[in-house]
Amino acid sequence: MAEYLSSIYGTEKDKVNCSFYFKIGACRHGDRCSRKHVKPNFSQTILMPNVYQNPSHDANCKMNKEELQQNFNDFYEDIFVELAKYGEIEEMNVCDNVGDHLVGNIYARYKYEEDAGKAVESLNNRFYAGRPLWAELSPVTDFREACCRQYENAECTRGGFCNFMHLKMVERQISRELFASQRAFMRDKEKPRRDQDQDRHHRDDRERYYQDDRERHGRHYDDRERDYHRDQQRHPEGYSYPPPPPMDMGAAVGNPEDYEVPHA
Ligand SMILES: [Zn+2]
Ligand SMILES: [Zn+2]
Repeated sequence: MAEYLSSIYGTEKDKVNCSFYFKIGACRHGDRCSRKHVKPNFSQTILMPNVYQNPSHDANCKMNKEELQQNFNDFYEDIFVELAKYGEIEEMNVCDNVGDHLVGNIYARYKYEEDAGKAVESLNNRFYAGRPLWAELSPVTDFREACCRQYENAECTRGGFCNFMHLKMVERQISRELFASQRAFMRDKEKPRRDQDQDRHHRDDRERYYQDDRERHGRHYDDRERDYHRDQQRHPEGYSYPPPPPMDMGAAVGNPEDYEVPHA
């Protein structure tokens, strides 16, 4: 019996645990879901909901396709460099969905659970672009299961309100460079001291890379305290801290029956 229960855990056969929360880390019913959302105590994956704001969702947006991609590349790099401070990242994904429980969600899977734990603890005291961040450990481990296959084949008819992840893709070159710098940085950290001396010049280059990066992209983080206080003065009641989890707007989805069964 125990074996059967563990084999159906988080699948649609499981009548107790929510398969959407288990696979995608977010469910449109939120806290009102009739099935359980079991938050993990340990996980390699963290979720920061509602961080990325796609400028094209603004009716007054004048950016063309290239500018929008550039804007996203900068955002991705900015976040990656920040998250990499807590440990080695294996994968980082940003949702381009528009439903309230998935819009702008960032998922990062670390190599070690311990680093994910550190990241969550620290990020909950941080701000990004003047807004407080919310971070939590997420049960998502396999992003192939969480992503919409129809979307990947340009066939998803649910559009942005789909309840599976529609990932916003960063330019391949950018992600290659970020992971390569991270690998080099990690290799260096693990090296014994005497080898490091021989490699000093290379290391200086890499440190310069991270330094440049902070200078290029760190502005959002550096400004956050100031922005926060400024925003607080402007809208004294506008911030609650820590921010509440995103509200569930399930009713906005057209045809709920379409979404009840996740991929097998
Ligand atoms: Zn649920
Ligand atoms: Zn879809």
